[in-house]
Amino acid sequence: MLACDASNDSCELEDKVPQGDRKGCFPQWACSWEEVSIMDEKNIPIRTYQVCNVLEPNQNNWLRTDWIPRSGAQRVYVEVKFTLRDCNSLPGVTGTCKETFNLYYHESNEVRESYIKESSFIKVDTVAADESFTQVDVGDRIMKLNTEVRDVKVTTRKGFYLAFQDVGACIALVSVRVFYKTCPLTIRNLATFPDTVTGADTSSLVEVRGSCVNQSEEREEPKMYCGADGEWLVPIGGCFCSPGYEEKGGACKACSAGFYKAKSSDAGCFKCPPHSHSVRDGATVCDCHSGFFRADSDPPSMACTQPPSAPQQLISVVNETSVVLEWAPPRRLGGRSDTSYSLDSQLCLPCGSDVLFSPGQTGLKTTRVVVSELRAHTHYTFIVHARNGVSQASGAGAAQSVSVSVTTNQAAPSPVSSILAIDVTRHSLSLSWQQPDRPNGVILEYEVKFYEKDQKERSYRIMRTFSRSVDVTGLNPLTVYVFHVRARTAAGYGEFSAPFEFSTNSDPFPLIGEGVNSAFLLLSVSGVGILLLISAAVFIISRRRSKYSKTKQDSEEEKHLNPGVKIYVDPFTYEDPDQAIHEFAKEIDVSSIHIEKVIGMVGEFGEVCSGRLRVQGKREIYVAIKSLKAGYSDKQRRDFLSEASIMGQFDHPNIIRLEGVVTRCKPLMIITEYMENGSLDAFLRKHDGQFTVIQLVGMLRGIASGMKYLSDMSYVHRDLAARNILVNSNLVCKVSDFGLSRVLEDDPEAAYTTRVRRKIPIRWTAPEAITYRKFTTASDVWSYGIVMWEVVSYGERPYWDMNNQDVIKAIEEGYRLPAPMDCPVVLHQLMLDCWERERAERPTFSQILNMLDKLIRNPGTLRTMLESGMGSEVCVSVLPEVCVPEWSVCEWLQSIGLERYRDTLAAAGYTSLDSLLALTHQ
Ligand code: AMP
Repeated sequence: MLACDASNDSCELEDKVPQGDRKGCFPQWACSWEEVSIMDEKNIPIRTYQVCNVLEPNQNNWLRTDWIPRSGAQRVYVEVKFTLRDCNSLPGVTGTCKETFNLYYHESNEVRESYIKESSFIKVDTVAADESFTQVDVGDRIMKLNTEVRDVKVTTRKGFYLAFQDVGACIALVSVRVFYKTCPLTIRNLATFPDTVTGADTSSLVEVRGSCVNQSEEREEPKMYCGADGEWLVPIGGCFCSPGYEEKGGACKACSAGFYKAKSSDAGCFKCPPHSHSVRDGATVCDCHSGFFRADSDPPSMACTQPPSAPQQLISVVNETSVVLEWAPPRRLGGRSDTSYSLDSQLCLPCGSDVLFSPGQTGLKTTRVVVSELRAHTHYTFIVHARNGVSQASGAGAAQSVSVSVTTNQAAPSPVSSILAIDVTRHSLSLSWQQPDRPNGVILEYEVKFYEKDQKERSYRIMRTFSRSVDVTGLNPLTVYVFHVRARTAAGYGEFSAPFEFSTNSDPFPLIGEGVNSAFLLLSVSGVGILLLISAAVFIISRRRSKYSKTKQDSEEEKHLNPGVKIYVDPFTYEDPDQAIHEFAKEIDVSSIHIEKVIGMVGEFGEVCSGRLRVQGKREIYVAIKSLKAGYSDKQRRDFLSEASIMGQFDHPNIIRLEGVVTRCKPLMIITEYMENGSLDAFLRKHDGQFTVIQLVGMLRGIASGMKYLSDMSYVHRDLAARNILVNSNLVCKVSDFGLSRVLEDDPEAAYTTRVRRKIPIRWTAPEAITYRKFTTASDVWSYGIVMWEVVSYGERPYWDMNNQDVIKAIEEGYRLPAPMDCPVVLHQLMLDCWERERAERPTFSQILNMLDKLIRNPGTLRTMLESGMGSEVCVSVLPEVCVPEWSVCEWLQSIGLERYRDTLAAAGYTSLDSLLALTHQ
């Protein structure tokens, strides 16, 4: 009975008129439906059910079908074909004749329900004919067949019955077709969707999951919706053909030979890349031709490649215990760009684990390696391998390498790596250390360099020893010392060790357990006085051995830390230059100035006059009046006044004193104290050879004192030269000429160099200031050394008539001005110290002042002239060779307030300061 036609999007449940047996009639009513054979429009006999009780009122004639199984359908369609007689064509029929019938259904699980109540049926619809016919029509054989379709939801039972109720029409049921709809099996996006029964409601969509066709993989869950009318809607997701397959006509077909497909995708199959092939259908990757390889990381689309040939032209350059290896890339790179190199450490015998390869030993992209930390005088073989991504796959080995043999040179020892201090007392300690890791030969000697941490390396001592320990004595109590040790072999000194810091303590003896003898402790107690004396001696002498006094330096450092110390303010930091000038300089009423004569010229608009100044309530004084005549630019005005703004901040006997300025009327004036002897260079030239060394040193001391004051105020002069020192009638020297741009623009000695834009007084300027404008107090110290030379040579021009470029070159090459005639060696040494290339090595002004003070106090030290005094005992060397000035023990004891020990020391045979140096605690 159930005839489904998939191609029809529907299944027929019943294709005949209901069975007209009597069982189909409801017993309570007369069964009026009759089974009648008639001819259809094509004159073919058909069976129909008819009823035509139009003359009697209240007709209720039922005809029902057999049980119709639902077969999974949820909504069924009932197509009824029928004919209906037009009531108007029936004579004598009034009121009782109808032109409709009713369609009912009843859901049931029973295949043969014997009795169904009328009320059990649910009405589907009242069906009217589109076309009715008359008797005449029938006679003429014109059938007017009506086709009506109704649908009904059937979801509750396994099947249902249909019923037709006639209520007084003249009707013939020709056929009843019952069917439901499905969305037919289909393939979309490589997913198969099965034949699917539509939903229960006219608007319902049934979600259906598709399954990937053969040789395909889900790309995204394939889904579609089956609509109520049997149409597929909204396809989502789908599948891709598996590796080795490509889509053809909605199915996945294997790649043919010579082609491959590596991934599931919607792409087609690819041709095999160079040097590869596939012989069977469905290849996911192509096999490499013999002799060609593919690295694990190579994509299947990449051509098969080969390992590289050996590196070429390996050369080695030995530098002591390092070897530089360089080579050219292999001739054949095998079609790849990932060639790397490695040095085989196993074959590099006897490479120790501490050998360094820079930039590395393996995976090198460069063709140069520096192998260092090798043993001195040792034979090495280095093998350089070239590899690429397929070297491993190909099993390539020695064939792709190249080797070289070298012998390292003799080398200095490596640095000592650790230093220990024991038996620490207030004045001594014992140092010990291990042999360097790589002695590179027989160690002939160790050198210990040490200095007070605060002193940095300005002053240090050196000790030499054959053993790996040394007792260091003569230290200051509670002081941190920095120690470096280096070893020497036949190849020379190695590098100094890193710094090791140890502090002396306040104990006169090492702590017990640190190597001290307790009996010695007892004995020592009685000798405390003499020990104190010895300590003082060693302390003071060792201080004298230092090149520059620490006390002075400390005081200098303290000052920098002291917030009370005045720091110079650059007037150019003021937006308004007049504000600076009035902050630092006093405005003088021009009427209180009396100009006498012109004594000098400065630049185009400047003039220096001497004159007198009478300020109310003060006595008249001689002054120098520097004026700026009309016609100057703003910049010239600012520069001119900046000198006064700077000078006005200073107050020191060796700095020219500013009396005041005239800014409110023209010309602008700067009034300073009058220096009767004018500038130092001219003054010395005028009095060539007329002063004693002590007088010259006195002048230098004054200049140093002024410069110390300036450096304490963090002022860098930049143009310190004898021409810029003024001398008064008492031979007091004062530093003058302040103001950066003015100094360099107006100084006739200032010249442009090729490297910097500003003018620089080349002969007086430190190399770092010439080269990269690094002007510091240390560069002022360099200039001070030149001033010393100018002073001692009575105003000689530094470097005589050498030109500036030659001066720069000579200095760069290490040339320094020689000692002027009759120059005490100590002064020339001080000059040389000022001209140290490394500016940190130069003395500070504080140290210079200290040194000059010492010289003045001990004029004997100045007696040694260069001609006669080379290598004398004058204390100028950084290395503390014996260098105690010519003092007697007695003088020295007096100077330190311990003269009461004079006899004790004399009785013990200590009659010279040198002999005191040999004193030990014992
Ligand atoms: P200045 O511009 O400071 O270099 O001065 C130019 C010249 O004037 C100097 O070389 C001195 O000869 C002279 N001069 C400058 N200031 C004074 C002064 N305060 N006392 C005496 N002469 C001075």
